Amino acid sequence: MGSQTLMMLSEKYIAHTYNRFPILPIRGKGTRIWDIEGKEYIDFFAGLAVCNLGHCHPKVVQAIRTQAEKLIHVSNLYYIEPQIELASLLCKHSFADKVFFCNSGAEANEGALKLARKYAKGKTGEDRYEIITMERSFHGRTLATLTATGQTKYHKGYTPLMPGFKYVPFNDLKAVREAIDSKTCAILLEPIQGEGGVNIPSEGYLKGLREICDEKGILLILDEVQVGMGRTGKLFAYEHENIEPDLLTLAKSLAGGVPIGALLMKEEIAKSFEPGDHASTFGGNFLATAAGVAALNAILDEGMLENCQKVGEYFLERLQEIKKKYALVNDVRGRGLIVGLELKMDGAEIVKEMMKKGFLINCTMNTVLRFLPPLIVTKDEVDRMIKALEEVFAGIT
Ligand SMILES: *Cc1c(COP(=O)(O)O)cnc(C)c1O
Repeated sequence: MGSQTLMMLSEKYIAHTYNRFPILPIRGKGTRIWDIEGKEYIDFFAGLAVCNLGHCHPKVVQAIRTQAEKLIHVSNLYYIEPQIELASLLCKHSFADKVFFCNSGAEANEGALKLARKYAKGKTGEDRYEIITMERSFHGRTLATLTATGQTKYHKGYTPLMPGFKYVPFNDLKAVREAIDSKTCAILLEPIQGEGGVNIPSEGYLKGLREICDEKGILLILDEVQVGMGRTGKLFAYEHENIEPDLLTLAKSLAGGVPIGALLMKEEIAKSFEPGDHASTFGGNFLATAAGVAALNAILDEGMLENCQKVGEYFLERLQEIKKKYALVNDVRGRGLIVGLELKMDGAEIVKEMMKKGFLINCTMNTVLRFLPPLIVTKDEVDRMIKALEEVFAGIT
């Protein structure tokens, strides 16, 4: 079938929850994607921070293939070897003692919200259920995680929302202090806001939140669904901040492109989940966790964190130069390879122009061009993308 026919069938039969670009990718390798017409793209979006290892990383592909031939599914009523292996690895390389596996970021956050409530109730005997989250945050699309998301545009049409959430501005410790009351059980935030416009915490902000949580006996939950697994140049974004969370959620790139979610927990809190309290049929299944083990090992063994730091710094420098040259640029910010360029205008057209030139980039919050390339991206690829971006900018000013 030709691409036009396929796109028509897509619009006919698939729920219209996405406005799609007219590209039909069929193959990928490393930082490159090819569409059905054979056009090549350099991918600075990585499936929204999912393909941190690049497309079809050979070790991930091999792990899926090998596992698929052995066993694809049993049930969490039995012990599952790659699940055990991935949990051990995650605990070894993080603050966590235990892991709960699920299938998406929203589900991981849902688990964190449930656990925070249950832990608080067990500890205090009271109904302490309130969670403080940040304005411009993004935590998912289930009813609870969409309520946790501090952006009214996502709430529209879904009221009544879940009770028990309060929003405060990001980077404002005073607002958090004022929002805490006897019902508060946790603070949930992204250590760098992704959808909200690549917002970087100011120095000492996360440390300040940690101190408030310790003082008040409430939990600090970090949503690293987008910025975890090496995206910021360290395996987890909290490592930049000299703190440890109580709970942390992962998904997107955890299994190198295969759907997965995970809730990482400190032992004392994990104890509040007892058999029957929470579950997921596919959570921690063979394929996802075998891919996850291969992906995590590849990130650690193949110098991806180092490349991410090095190329990330270079990328930011290049964009700072661009900012000096073009008046339409308002701000440049990022850490590692989550990079944002804020425009003084809408960015949708720029994304389209870049696509024509063979580069996949993203725009969030209408004006923030967001770059999330695979962690293996090279300086040369950054140069090529920036050259194209300059051509597009030059056409506007
Ligand atoms: C993408 C994202 C989610 C939701 O993940 P899904 O897998 O789409 O449910 C939650 N939090 C953050 C920070 C995200 O970027």
